[in-house]
Amino acid sequence: MAVIPVANCARPCLMPRFLSFLFIFLPLVALLAGCVGQTYRPPPPVTPQIAAFEADSLEDAIGMQTARLVKAHQLLWPLLVANEELCKKTRLSIGVLVSDRVELGKNLRGITAGQLALVGVPDYTFALSVMKGGPAEAAGLRDGDQLLGVDAKKISDPDKLREVLSRQLGKKEAPEKIDLLIARNGIEQNISVAPIRVCDAALRVNEGDVLNAYAGTKTITLYAGLMRIMDEQAVQYVLAHELAHVGLGHVRKGVRNAVVSGALVYVPILSALGSGADSVLDRFDPAREISLGSKALGLLPSLEAFEAEADYVGLYMLARADLEMGGAVRAFEIFSREKPQSIWVRYTHPLTPERMQAAEAAIAEIDHKRQTGATLLPNKIKP
Ligand SMILES: [Zn+2]
Repeated sequence: MAVIPVANCARPCLMPRFLSFLFIFLPLVALLAGCVGQTYRPPPPVTPQIAAFEADSLEDAIGMQTARLVKAHQLLWPLLVANEELCKKTRLSIGVLVSDRVELGKNLRGITAGQLALVGVPDYTFALSVMKGGPAEAAGLRDGDQLLGVDAKKISDPDKLREVLSRQLGKKEAPEKIDLLIARNGIEQNISVAPIRVCDAALRVNEGDVLNAYAGTKTITLYAGLMRIMDEQAVQYVLAHELAHVGLGHVRKGVRNAVVSGALVYVPILSALGSGADSVLDRFDPAREISLGSKALGLLPSLEAFEAEADYVGLYMLARADLEMGGAVRAFEIFSREKPQSIWVRYTHPLTPERMQAAEAAIAEIDHKRQTGATLLPNKIKP
């Protein structure tokens, strides 16, 4: 092998740079020289048509994603309202999804605030969606109304306006009415809204394709992937299940259990070892159905019981909001089709057929309570 003398060259040392240039670019030039062109000739593009398609497609993408965001919030709203009694933490709400161009841009996938401006989304704060049957709707607020301020104070900064509004609603001595200064068709007016107490859960719609939803301590995350294949009632059941997790404080309980039982230490270790074993075993048997890495997560204490509890309480949450419960079974049918392993492999949730049976039993229990006029509350382990 030839030794290239570079040690004695003056600084900046050009020799290694020149050599790396040769090593990287010469093969690239050689590759490009060997490239072959296309065989067939498509018709030449018509530029004005492309521009028209671009404008249409952009409007379509923004319209569809915004509609999905609004739909998810509208589906969750009646559940938040009807289940104060089942939620550990509650908050005041006036029932309006407030947004602005920048905020909306953060919620949509691959869409910038600049593109929102192109389709006419205003740069001021506005009511993106007024929740059906909520206090803001009753007070006369409408979708698209511009929000100028709160309690006669004009606030032009959208972030500040949202902050002031949530501070007003978060006060210990909550005001009976909140005065919104709004503008509709350029005419300013005051709308006085009486807030109501609802479950304290926020909603985030992730535009990803994953078929999933999950709950944090206060936030429900719903993947658009799930909304793409499920009907509204099935999505609403998933939201109710997640709201039950939030309302019952499952994340906090889970963390506590993980700490007390030592699972916080051994589960990540077993999960990592399992994932390692997975990658080795998958080489010999790619059709292997059990992931040892994921299975380790199932060792977290009470996890499966919490899932069964969220399934059960979620159905009561739907019933208390007078919503259709059949979406639960359809959601499980879709899970079985799309994630067939959930039919027979036990990880963190009960098996899907078990969940279906439990849902039907819970629906029968709720129907019976309705017929006998009993209170619609889930049965406690200790009465
Ligand atoms: Zn769950």
